[in-house]
Amino acid sequence: MRWSQTFIPTMKEVPAEAEVPSHQLMLRAGLIRQLMAGAYTYLPLGYRSVRKVSEIVREEMDKAGAIELFMPALQPIEIFERTGRREAFGNVLFNFEVKKGDRKLHLALGPTHEEVITDLMARHISSYRQLPITLYQIQTKFRNEERPRFGVLRTSEFLMKDAYSFGASLEQLNAAYEAMYNAYCRIFERCGLKYLPVEADSGPIGGDASHEFMVPADNGEDFVVHCAKCGYAANQERADTGRVSQLPAKIAEAAAPAKVDTPNVGTIDQVSQLLKSDAKSFIKTLIYKADGKPVAILLRGDHTANEGKIRRATKAASVELADEATILKVTGAPVGFAGPVGILCPCFADHDVALITSAIVGANSKDAHLTGVIPGTHFELSETFDLRNGESSDPCPKCTGFLQIVHGIEVGHVFKLGTKYSVSMDATFVDAQEQSHPIIMGCYGIGVTRVVASIVETCHDANGIIWPLAVAPYSVQLIPLNVTDADVMKITNTIYGELTGDGIDVLMDDRDHRPGFKFKDADLIGIPLRITIGGKGLAEGITEVKWRTETVAKKVPIAETVAFVKGLIAEKS
Ligand SMILES: [Zn+2]
Repeated sequence: MRWSQTFIPTMKEVPAEAEVPSHQLMLRAGLIRQLMAGAYTYLPLGYRSVRKVSEIVREEMDKAGAIELFMPALQPIEIFERTGRREAFGNVLFNFEVKKGDRKLHLALGPTHEEVITDLMARHISSYRQLPITLYQIQTKFRNEERPRFGVLRTSEFLMKDAYSFGASLEQLNAAYEAMYNAYCRIFERCGLKYLPVEADSGPIGGDASHEFMVPADNGEDFVVHCAKCGYAANQERADTGRVSQLPAKIAEAAAPAKVDTPNVGTIDQVSQLLKSDAKSFIKTLIYKADGKPVAILLRGDHTANEGKIRRATKAASVELADEATILKVTGAPVGFAGPVGILCPCFADHDVALITSAIVGANSKDAHLTGVIPGTHFELSETFDLRNGESSDPCPKCTGFLQIVHGIEVGHVFKLGTKYSVSMDATFVDAQEQSHPIIMGCYGIGVTRVVASIVETCHDANGIIWPLAVAPYSVQLIPLNVTDADVMKITNTIYGELTGDGIDVLMDDRDHRPGFKFKDADLIGIPLRITIGGKGLAEGITEVKWRTETVAKKVPIAETVAFVKGLIAEKS
């Protein structure tokens, strides 16, 4: 492709609206332009990378035995009502009424395709002989993002690969899951991305086992706890934390706690300032309603509660923070002064609470706290639980190392769905004994456009993008130094013809600009290999060849340039 014939609107200035490197560089390098918040056009250069990532995804899906199809983005709202996801998605689901003659239709734009594909399978699968099968598509998804941001990292419309496995047994589900997991590892490796497979919570989609694939990045919106020693990685909400070997014994001779006045201060920060003590010596008492019944959750003062873990510990179907009236009822005090001593509801203590030897707690009366509270002595402590989010420097649950918090961008997710959708959409099969069962499903997503943005976010320097070869818009950029020089253009055109003839994609910067200007643009758009032709080199009979990451070019005889470049590409492929 000749630069003059394509459309690459590069920008010198960093756009004011772009906060993160990938957004800035994708705008500056002419990969994307915004239509409105959350919706972007992929310009020719950007779309070439989207297509290359899509092709890698497609190849690995096919290799893993998945079958490609293509489903409508436009869907009837009824299918979301059948699975309960109309409510679960809430405002995130784009949905609207349209008129058709004198009828009204209520439609939705697909945020994912569990409903559509389960409905399809329900109509066509009847026997275990037809299973297992895994189907996938690469298609635009729609989610009404409350806060679209970071360019194409979080948008309301995005390209996604979504796959769905259907099996007759848990073994078939596990085999499909493993095949997808391994395919994902190959896909992200081929895309040149550093990634972490992370144990994840199932979230609102329902089901049990799942992994997220995270690209570590400073601007990532997800938090992962990671052990550098053994490689354990988990979503911060999922990660197991703190282990307690022994509960404190009751001390018979212990002095009673002291009541101190803490007028008009209710937060741990305020009280710790007032009493000049560390948040770590506080026991934070949070009143929740577990299936409507009040419970007190005890955490070390600097820790944060994890509702998923609280739900599991209290064996409740739903938990929510209690309202002021409930707090007043069980503590006898307004919000901010709850404590475990004398509270009128069951207490659930986190493991780390047992390690505090002398604690500060709310006194269950207005404007007062207790100090010198001994867990197990001044309030009962017969069992402890994991109730909080993982933090850096927590012990690793798998080895003797310690955890650290890593920011990440989620680029993929594999998920054992189970029978949630097949039950609600009546997708069943009969086994060899003529018994009917719901089909066991898995679902597997990759954000294709988000992969492209993650590559830019993590592969760049101060001058621009550094594309990994496999996903670069072009593999080679030719830079003739003087396009009005007939000799320069003759050699440039010859090299261009030979490389493209061999199936290598080449971008020739045939614009009549100064060399410095073209080199700046070349660094910005980040094509992996650069061949410079002209100037002193031409007099010496050489071209200059360099990788985007190299500072010094190799001098290569003109006649050997094509073979040399092909060799470099073959080495990297
Ligand atoms: Zn570890």
